[in-house]
Amino acid sequence: MTTQFDHWIDGRKVRPEGGEHFPTFDPTRAVPWAELAKGNVADIDRAVESATRAQRAWRRTSPAQRNRLLSAMADLIDREAGRLAELESRDVGKVLRETRSQMRALPTWYRYYASLAFQQDGRVIPHDRASIVNLTTREPYGVIGIIAPFNSPVLLTSMSLAPAIAAGNAVVVKPAETASTSVIRLAELFAEAGLPDGVFNVVTGLGAEAGAALVAHPGIAKVFFTGGVETGRRVAAEAGLHGKPTVLELGGKSANIVLPDAADLRSVANGIVAGIYAAAGQTCVAGSRLLVHSSIADELVDLVAARTEKIILGDPADDRTEMGPLAEPNIVDNVERRVDEAITAGARVRVGGSRLDAPGWFYRPTILTDVVNDMAVAREELFGPVLAVIRFHDDDEAVAIANDSPFGLAAGLWTTNIGRAHRMAAALEAGTVWVNTYRALSYASPFGGRKASGYGRENGLDGFAEVTVTKSLWIETSEESIDDPFILR
Ligand code: NAD
Repeated sequence: MTTQFDHWIDGRKVRPEGGEHFPTFDPTRAVPWAELAKGNVADIDRAVESATRAQRAWRRTSPAQRNRLLSAMADLIDREAGRLAELESRDVGKVLRETRSQMRALPTWYRYYASLAFQQDGRVIPHDRASIVNLTTREPYGVIGIIAPFNSPVLLTSMSLAPAIAAGNAVVVKPAETASTSVIRLAELFAEAGLPDGVFNVVTGLGAEAGAALVAHPGIAKVFFTGGVETGRRVAAEAGLHGKPTVLELGGKSANIVLPDAADLRSVANGIVAGIYAAAGQTCVAGSRLLVHSSIADELVDLVAARTEKIILGDPADDRTEMGPLAEPNIVDNVERRVDEAITAGARVRVGGSRLDAPGWFYRPTILTDVVNDMAVAREELFGPVLAVIRFHDDDEAVAIANDSPFGLAAGLWTTNIGRAHRMAAALEAGTVWVNTYRALSYASPFGGRKASGYGRENGLDGFAEVTVTKSLWIETSEESIDDPFILR
């Protein structure tokens, strides 16, 4: 028996205009578990109309009103964190322990941006002519379109949704076709919190249909896209044709670099394992390349391998499970193909390297040693549980290998030498560098990529700046008459 979900438009559930639903699968059992509304151009039109209407009033609400509402939304997420976590686990196969901890962190995004609603201030800019008053204000864009990926749908949606709403925008979200149910539940919760109808709308459906219609819609002022590189570039090109700005949060092939002076290698090994196998490798910041100094490589790889072999695969709802299935069967196929190719090219399997013989879409946590940086397993984002180990001999070589990548999302450094950490962090082409930790994320710290990993920033003040646009206001205070119309003052 599957559960049916509809769109969320104008503060209520709305059946799809085309009358169709499509199945979404439980990856643990490889069976359909829910049906989502198949959104089309007409559904997007309806959602954007509702958002446009709502935004006219929403942008005029006081900072105090927006602050109160976002705080109420945070309280309801707190209350419903368990249910949201269950929906997400079911949709994407992430272990419940992991989705629960993510949902517990989520309300703070809303509380943080609730506080920034009070700080949407501008500047007074001195002008050569003393009688001129020039000031800037930060205004909401209008209606913002958010296109979300399947991994962490509620958190990743919230990273642009919370600031967008706090700044006075309305939003239409198109979540991933494999992971929409938690985002729909979020919309229901926000309605319960008192968010006015139409400020937040969710249209589910296929990327090429509902997603493309959202990007092309003239009522959408800016698009926040999180997903794969190829899709992101297509979205940015389409948005560009319509003259719209975009923020692109794309993939990565992040290097986790371990220097010979790293502290306790057992603890480093745990950091490496958490960096790659969380969410079965399906995180954009997965530390999928382990760059290790040759002098400690054998010892560290032994430690990482010993922990990896113990990873408990299984049902994400079981509290003992450490890694669930992959979200889609085509990801398993791609991981399998790329691992086999790497083996043919000379890489060696230290751990894993195969599917699990189970009904769901499981692939064993895998370590490949003897990887060369030009192999596909070192260059392409697999979005699966595969760690590619590469040795280096000095700091410059480590930085060169890390930067020899199309991507520039994140990197990790493990060292006890603070000067070395600063020098290497400065040389790494990555939006985020972690030293002696990995995958730390905060509502207050800017997050985003370079190179093929995208552009623009989410979270923190940078994320707030992305949802507003500057207006420069000029006032001539002198009462002198304008004598010469051709002389600019
Ligand atoms: P995807 O690119 O397949 O899909 C992302 C979204 O785009 C989905 O909602 C999809 O329906 C939509 N879409 C597809 N075609 C479209 C089109 N033509 N027009 C408009 N929308 C369209 O990505 P995915 O498989 O869902 O997610 C995995 C990817 O997301 C990975 O590459 C991962 O690294 C990336 N990601 C990046 C970040 C980050 O913040 N940098 C975070 C999480 C995930």
